[in-house]
Amino acid sequence: MNLLLFGKPGAGKGTQAPKLAEALKLPTLATGDVLRQAVREGTPLGKKAKEYMDRGDLVPDDVILGIVGEALASPDYQRGVILDGVVRTVPQAEGLKQVLNGLNRKLDAVLSFEIDNDEIVQRLGGRTVCEKCQTPYTGRNAGEKCEKCGGTLVRRKDDEPDAIRNRLRVYEQQTAPVFDWYSRNGTRMATVQAVGTFDEVTKRALKALGR
Ligand code: AMP
Repeated sequence: MNLLLFGKPGAGKGTQAPKLAEALKLPTLATGDVLRQAVREGTPLGKKAKEYMDRGDLVPDDVILGIVGEALASPDYQRGVILDGVVRTVPQAEGLKQVLNGLNRKLDAVLSFEIDNDEIVQRLGGRTVCEKCQTPYTGRNAGEKCEKCGGTLVRRKDDEPDAIRNRLRVYEQQTAPVFDWYSRNGTRMATVQAVGTFDEVTKRALKALGR
């Protein structure tokens, strides 16, 4: 199965992805994680992406499609994949379709996480992430230790108020049209109300996917 997780920044895609991966026995690919790692390692990709990311802007489509094309061709993703935040513009949706076509595959479903902007601002304003394994936390302070790997929790630069506002603006302008594009293209669309406890959202998500 090739599944795309879609929704506003802070909707909980990255929080749910590992749980869905476990339930569906699929690996995940998150462009945000690939990019943050590249920034940390100071690679040419990281140097190119950093400014866009810090401002809360989208990294150019050709850079994203390069990452996705390379990753999906690797043996790790042959059996299927959960794509987390990978498609944020219509050209990226078109590019992903080409990449999957070239591998004789197609997107089986889009799972859209539905949530209000007010909830997002509150959530991201209180979020920390593990600097090592990227696990996101709410209600935990920077400097505390990650429960999963012992790494240090940090604030993301793009979770500061100005960047959050910009990310939501960018979502409305460039990412929201992706939902309509997939709807028109006959892709199976599933939606999940992304509020409530972690387990409630997981249950709803699996149910929306018919599991
Ligand atoms: P995320 O961790 O998914 O919130 O992504 C963090 C940042 O990485 C975004 O705000 C963008 O700057 C960049 N990014 C991640 N995925 C994409 C994508 N598919 N297209 C463009 N930029 C992306």
